[in-house]
Amino acid sequence: MQIINARLRQKPELFTLHIENGHFTKIEKQDGTLADTSLNDDINADGNLVCAPFVEPHIHLDAALTAGEPEWNQSGTLFEGIERWSQRKPMLNEADIRKRALSTIELLVQNGVQAIRTHADTTDPTLIGVRTLCALRDELKDKIDLQVVAFPQDGMLSYPSGLKLMEEALEIGADVVGGIPHFEYTRELGEKSVKLIIELAKKYDRLVDVHCDEIDDPNSRFLEFLACEALFHDMGDKVTASHTTAMHSYDNAYCSKLFRLLKNSGINFISCPTESIHLQGRFDTYPKRRGVTRVKELREANINVCLGQDSIFDPWYSLGNGKLLRTLDFAMHICQMMGYKDYESALDMITDNSAKTMCLENYGIKIGNPANFILLEGFDDYSVLRKQGEVLLSVRHGEIIMQRQPAQVISKPWISTI
Ligand SMILES: [Zn+2]
Repeated sequence: MQIINARLRQKPELFTLHIENGHFTKIEKQDGTLADTSLNDDINADGNLVCAPFVEPHIHLDAALTAGEPEWNQSGTLFEGIERWSQRKPMLNEADIRKRALSTIELLVQNGVQAIRTHADTTDPTLIGVRTLCALRDELKDKIDLQVVAFPQDGMLSYPSGLKLMEEALEIGADVVGGIPHFEYTRELGEKSVKLIIELAKKYDRLVDVHCDEIDDPNSRFLEFLACEALFHDMGDKVTASHTTAMHSYDNAYCSKLFRLLKNSGINFISCPTESIHLQGRFDTYPKRRGVTRVKELREANINVCLGQDSIFDPWYSLGNGKLLRTLDFAMHICQMMGYKDYESALDMITDNSAKTMCLENYGIKIGNPANFILLEGFDDYSVLRKQGEVLLSVRHGEIIMQRQPAQVISKPWISTI
């Protein structure tokens, strides 16, 4: 298989990509545009951007597609979301979770995603979410990279047997240890939970991804505790802080001190801008905080930061369509990253940076890597972002898993009749 007339990120020329046995074997610079070849499985990219697959590093597949069941979150707060989810939890069963998770995965794949990190709630004595999603991960292992986070939604230490359930989830096979220190009853319990998360990750050799300081409270400072633990245990690249929305409200002097630790620790960040702009700032009158972590500042400090959707039609967020380009568009606006330099590498936040966060191996368009890629409408990061077009093609191990015809305007543009 060959992909001709392909643009690659940060390169102005056209390229031909050669694929054999599901791997990239040659990436050749072209001398101008090539005509279609007669070989059946060749693809003409037509000057569009060939990009590494999108990565969804933060979503809750066990809760996806449950908005309004049995009641809607009317206030729009994170805490009412947790209450509504508590009402939905007793209705969970394997078939229900499986059906919704598969529909959501399909939606994500249709929009160029090939790797997903999902959280699975462990504060449920049956651990049905963890069991179902781990089984699905194993079943889909040749089709998609799926990581399951053992996530104690109602607290690891504040929920009865929360710690025991967390350990059971890791025994079942969850890939990542999660946490929610800001939701534990006290600061002491929150700190203790972070210590336990790191201990469990070491004991079971797992990654870490903590819902960290997802609150507007400027005194919620579990991030420094998590980063410090990661630094002292030398495991920063395996540790992720999700949300960190309290950082939006931190005093600037404190933040300046904090960034030194964050940089030294090497931990990763995930921001979910659509979710946070919706859930945070709910206790403010006016002015209202945006409640999104300092994505621009983290990028400028060369700290790894990526973006996730968090929810698709669930008790916390009742919109969402699986399109990471939409999430990226929101982030550029909300975090005021609309200088030309911000655009040039914008796609990093839904591709390379997310892959680094998930510790994905052999990711990216390189000779020898599996031929996993997507085709995007546009010729560079900026034009793809501005156009907000559809993903035209998704290829995994050299096989087409999704193909879409670009939308065409049928009627004559009225302006030409003037
Ligand atoms: Zn989340």
